[in-house]
Amino acid sequence: MKGPFIPQLVYFEPTALDYPLGVELKNKFEDLGIEIRYTTSHNQVRNLPGDNDFQKYRIAKSTLVVGIRKTLKFDTSKPSAEYAIPFATGCMGHCHYCYLQTTMGSKPYIRTYVNVEDILDAADQYMAERAPEITRFEASCTSDIVGIDHLTHTLKRAIEHFGQSEYGRLRFVTKFHHVDHLLDAKHNGKTRFRFSVNADYVIKHFEPGTSPLAKRIEAAGKVARAGYPLGFIVAPIYLHTGWQEGYYHMFERLDAELPQDARDDITFEFIQHRFTKPAKRVIEKNYPMTKLELDETARRYKWGKYGIGKYIYQKDEEEEIKEHLYRYMEKFFPKAKLEYFT
Ligand code: SF4
Repeated sequence: MKGPFIPQLVYFEPTALDYPLGVELKNKFEDLGIEIRYTTSHNQVRNLPGDNDFQKYRIAKSTLVVGIRKTLKFDTSKPSAEYAIPFATGCMGHCHYCYLQTTMGSKPYIRTYVNVEDILDAADQYMAERAPEITRFEASCTSDIVGIDHLTHTLKRAIEHFGQSEYGRLRFVTKFHHVDHLLDAKHNGKTRFRFSVNADYVIKHFEPGTSPLAKRIEAAGKVARAGYPLGFIVAPIYLHTGWQEGYYHMFERLDAELPQDARDDITFEFIQHRFTKPAKRVIEKNYPMTKLELDETARRYKWGKYGIGKYIYQKDEEEEIKEHLYRYMEKFFPKAKLEYFT
């Protein structure tokens, strides 16, 4: 992806226009000459264009639905935070392995919610319940929120809201580099800005529609200079020919770009590649030419919730991944904190 995301088609729930952000977005899309349609509910967008499922899926991924978030009960979000905060759902990226393909099912279009103050009020209540414990909110459980924030500035509003809170922390992760409007947000160190990074092979073959690694790293440098606590999620860690060098090179590039004074408070999260049987079926349907290796017999089965287990790497492969990545992290970022490996 070169420029920031611009939808090809936009739907509005009529009540979204009762909110200033709804009106602002409508004016913006009209000025851009984008087709606008209406839908009674963001959960039921019907008649998306496209002659077949393959086309419909692609058109949906470039369709934005502007609506109201009615469910203000937040899901939990372990291990990275206490709660998932729902500012948006869906993503314009085309990562072959993305779990949203299974969780969004027949609704791959992108939804943004204009009742941002209601969502932040709900977050305040969750914080109050746990105070004086810190409550962390993850804003990227159901979308890549940075990828659409240049349009809505919802994330910027949230960063400043949590910046003023006593017991709240915000965190999110992105594969996009369009961060400039977030650099002057008054974050007060309470938002951890994370980038998803990977070996070149993984980005090249499995992450179309996202920013190149060099751009993500450059954006991470800007974010660090703006004083945000920084983090990196290496996910999915994927075994491929030359993976040891691939991940080493990724750390070298991070090391070359990041300012020295921004390294005291960096976190890493490591997530090995995994898939479920339902995910495999959806991936093969949406990305029939993918090179992603999804062979159950080569993997180790881990029991999961609702009887849907996932296939992860064999124990010895897992140990090898840990051994290499921990070593690279300690070599290049000795002060970094490893949050988890999963
Ligand atoms: Fe999924 Fe993230 Fe890729 Fe978007 S950028 S498709 S949310 S993995």
